Amino acid sequence: DTLLEVENLKKVYESSTGVVEAIGDISFTMRRGELVCIVGPSGCGKTTLLKCIAGLLAPTSGRIELDGVGVTSPPPSMALVFQEYGRSLYPWLTVRANVELPLRHTALAKDDRARLVDDALRAVGLDHAAGSYPWQLSGGMQQRVAIARAVAYQPEVLIMDEPFAAVDAQTRADLEDLVRTLHRERGMSILFVTHDIDESVYLGERVIVLSKSPTWVQEDLPIDLAPE
Ligand code: ADP
Ligand code: ADP
Repeated sequence: DTLLEVENLKKVYESSTGVVEAIGDISFTMRRGELVCIVGPSGCGKTTLLKCIAGLLAPTSGRIELDGVGVTSPPPSMALVFQEYGRSLYPWLTVRANVELPLRHTALAKDDRARLVDDALRAVGLDHAAGSYPWQLSGGMQQRVAIARAVAYQPEVLIMDEPFAAVDAQTRADLEDLVRTLHRERGMSILFVTHDIDESVYLGERVIVLSKSPTWVQEDLPIDLAPE
């Protein structure tokens, strides 16, 4: 059951200073319910790839389909979590209100929204902090709020771009376990991008390795996770 299909994607940036081939030619598919990691060094085009998948940037050529539909603008069935968690939360809204925000643009009744928000806050271990403001929380907890917001929204696919690059090692390990739990227990489809090979191997059921242009190597490495 294919969820995401990227075929012969290419992105070239043109500016007054020259032409940069950020993505040479990449193809891969992701099944529903998979946790796929994309790993590669800085500058290999990870952010560019995600922006194209998220419909924020038009590819130079190639095709991206989510659920069989071509992506040309941000798909409503997608949620994004970035490294800059602090900036993605509204400081004047409580944790609860931040998590509920995307749901307010849906047709869901108030009670249903509240139920989804409670459930998401529990899932990330923040039910006790529902009434706090983001600036009262640590960086790791703020990132949990961002993840709760994505969980409550129930996206077809959750895209995470180096989400834990800015937190300390212990917090990062806890958050990685949270991602694994969300995937395992809720069957969330997650596309996780990182420059950290250890993180990609720990998290991914499948790891897609990007290497730096101009020589393009792309491999699917099947990684067996340790038995749970
Ligand atoms: P990564 O996220 O893996 O670090 P990026 O997608 O940010 O890689 O960048 C890939 C390449 O494209 C780099 O060489 C970068 O300098 C270049 N690049 C990224 N954004 C732009 C842009 N807006 N204009 C020109 N070049 C860019
Ligand atoms: P909605 O329109 O769904 O209520 P908003 O994100 O527009 O949600 O705003 C949520 C609350 O935050 C509102 O009470 C709004 O007045 C307030 N708000 C919006 N933007 C700002 C801002 N830049 N600074 C302070 N408060 C803001």
